[in-house]
Amino acid sequence: MAKEVILSGMRPTGKLHLGHLSVLENWARLQEGNENYYMVADWHTLTTGFNDTSALQENIRDMILDYLAAGIDPEHSAVFIQSHIKEHAELCLLLSMVTPLSWLERVPTYKDQIIQFGKEGKDISTHGFLGYPLLMAADIMVYRGTAVPVGEDQSAHLEFTRELCRRFNYLYETAVFPEPKALFAKIKLLPGTDNRKMSKSYGNDIPLDADDKLIAERVSTMVTDPARIRKDDLGHPDVCTVYTYHTFYNKEEAPDIECRCKEGKIGCVACKKQLAKVLSRFMAPMRERRNKLAENPSLVREIIDDGDDRARKTASKTIAMVRDAMNL
Ligand code: SF4
Repeated sequence: MAKEVILSGMRPTGKLHLGHLSVLENWARLQEGNENYYMVADWHTLTTGFNDTSALQENIRDMILDYLAAGIDPEHSAVFIQSHIKEHAELCLLLSMVTPLSWLERVPTYKDQIIQFGKEGKDISTHGFLGYPLLMAADIMVYRGTAVPVGEDQSAHLEFTRELCRRFNYLYETAVFPEPKALFAKIKLLPGTDNRKMSKSYGNDIPLDADDKLIAERVSTMVTDPARIRKDDLGHPDVCTVYTYHTFYNKEEAPDIECRCKEGKIGCVACKKQLAKVLSRFMAPMRERRNKLAENPSLVREIIDDGDDRARKTASKTIAMVRDAMNL
């Protein structure tokens, strides 16, 4: 792969959990040989969460710690906060002049989300929410990003960004913006402890900073094969969440567990204990890295300042090119 300019981010809505880890590990892998920008998309949180911002600072800090603990290397990647880089806003404004309203209105998630939030009694028919994809496009384009690791749920936003790049380049007869490609990682999603999608709001998550006690607690509530009541009942690991976790984090022992479960030779309690042990061992270094950083706020501030500086440097170059192209 030729050297890419890679930008990605997440909205700070709370502590990250094991379900996010594969995404962060993918970001970390993509550091090799590329130029990377990994941000906390705090402005995007405001598109739906404008009415209560009381937890925002804490959530931003947690997210930065999670990024760093999961292996984003601040020596290599610019780790920064979206709202610190005003260039995103300037580019967003300028692009808004050339963005047809119909492009925003036809983004598939737009109307659905307004209805969904409406049902919860929340009106998000705001300018800011309509402009979500535009702000995301500006995030990417202000670094002249070429590759964006995101989940498949973001593909419409990426397509929107590409169209906007083409439109700008065409209108102003320039080649400022490369068309960024989406990098959809082929990663299997880890389910929550109840086998639904892992989410803090379901209470089925394992936070990245979980200690051994919490890990054991969450594992003990995991749903298993409902057909197994006694230890010697023959089990079906393929429908068991505990087994799914073994295949993620205990690859070596998983085949043996599968056999013993099917033959009714291992009990669910023992099987869960084994998993909790493996998870604890796996998560300990990450938690230690995270705790160390949490104890050193000035270091974290330095990392963010440095990330901000590097991001701003690139972003302001792009803005200069854009102003030039638009005769501003
Ligand atoms: Fe699941 Fe393990 Fe129980 Fe089998 S023994 S049903 S894999 S928890």
